[in-house]
Amino acid sequence: MSTVQAPTQHVPTKLTDSIKLVDEAHAKTNLLGMTQAQLSNYFKSIGEKPFRATQVIKWIYQHGVTDFEKMTNLSKTLRDKLSLNACVVPPKIIHRQYSDDGTRKWVFEVTGGSLVETVLIPADDSKLNGRKTLCVSSQVGCALDCSFCSTGKQGFERDLSAAEIIGQLWVANASYMTDENESLENVDHSLWENNVTNVVMMGMGEPLLNYKPVVSSMEIMLSDHAYGLSKRRVTLSTSGVVPKMYQLAQDIDVALAISLHAPNDELRNELVPINKKYPLDELIAAAKNYVYDVNPRHKKHVTIEYVMLDGVNDSNEHAHQLVALLEGLPSKINLIPFNPFPHAPYDKSSNNRIHAFSNILSEAGFVCTVRQTRGDDIDAACGQLVGQVADRTRRSAAWQQSIKDRENV
Ligand code: SF4
Repeated sequence: MSTVQAPTQHVPTKLTDSIKLVDEAHAKTNLLGMTQAQLSNYFKSIGEKPFRATQVIKWIYQHGVTDFEKMTNLSKTLRDKLSLNACVVPPKIIHRQYSDDGTRKWVFEVTGGSLVETVLIPADDSKLNGRKTLCVSSQVGCALDCSFCSTGKQGFERDLSAAEIIGQLWVANASYMTDENESLENVDHSLWENNVTNVVMMGMGEPLLNYKPVVSSMEIMLSDHAYGLSKRRVTLSTSGVVPKMYQLAQDIDVALAISLHAPNDELRNELVPINKKYPLDELIAAAKNYVYDVNPRHKKHVTIEYVMLDGVNDSNEHAHQLVALLEGLPSKINLIPFNPFPHAPYDKSSNNRIHAFSNILSEAGFVCTVRQTRGDDIDAACGQLVGQVADRTRRSAAWQQSIKDRENV
């Protein structure tokens, strides 16, 4: 199983420098990623009133403050105590790319030197009123090895902590509040605005295989004291970890997406190997449970993600099979033109083929959209940017080694 290599040289950013990303996280308790309940317990454990949790959560997420000295409604004694024992540290940015179309990508180095990436995609439709969707990673790499996925090819390294997950959202919002030098020093935190309107847990990793940190992070996204996002604006996307789908239905109410990609077990076993463990009949039953059984009065649907692979899963027959499979499951279908990565074993379906496939679904009564490709000028598929950065740092290491070798001759 391959892993993402830690870089030997970092690309410093003033944003990360300005918020003092020192090794505090190792010596102090990182309050980023703690839910309201966890933070209340933390304050109790240091002899403080639990309501301090609400104050601190508002400072961190609604005002972007990481320096306890700036949390002015805390007493000086408490500010000093927190500065000594705690910190608020998001993951460290080592690379970022901002596209002409507004798409932003970051590569973060998380504890231990692993790399993960996060993508922000603004809507280009004025009717969507400034929607900005952040695609958040939940693991370093992924163990599920879907055959069309760049992340799956990198193998699995480890789960992300809640701080590393919610920190991706914190950094994305901070990127809109900083000056052109990306320093937080001069930001008026009373004017702080969170610009990210939607979050999809659809980046690197299978979120349901890193269950607790993912659910904690989504609680913070929904909390009125933190980001206050509506439950329809936070989406968890799973490839089909069926037992955890039932657990999720009990624990939190967010939108659900399923990475389906094939309408029958034979093909799905090949494209999404977890299907061998949890085949389609079990997956669809778990999705129906999520929609109907938890709160039957609350009208819900699932989003079906379906990547369009030329000559593999994109025939008219596949479309008719999909219609039959989804009968009785309120669904919106999102067709995703495949975004090829180096050595990918598939090609993108033609526009005509996607159109014909989409028509069959629409005529059967499904709401069907085709995802627009964004950020073309910065890179392509999920996981690819990490691969490029890791590759560049490996080349840099090789180059430095060659200089040393020459010096030793
Ligand atoms: S598609 Fe999702 S679940 Fe499958 S390998 Fe990629 S990241 Fe993992």
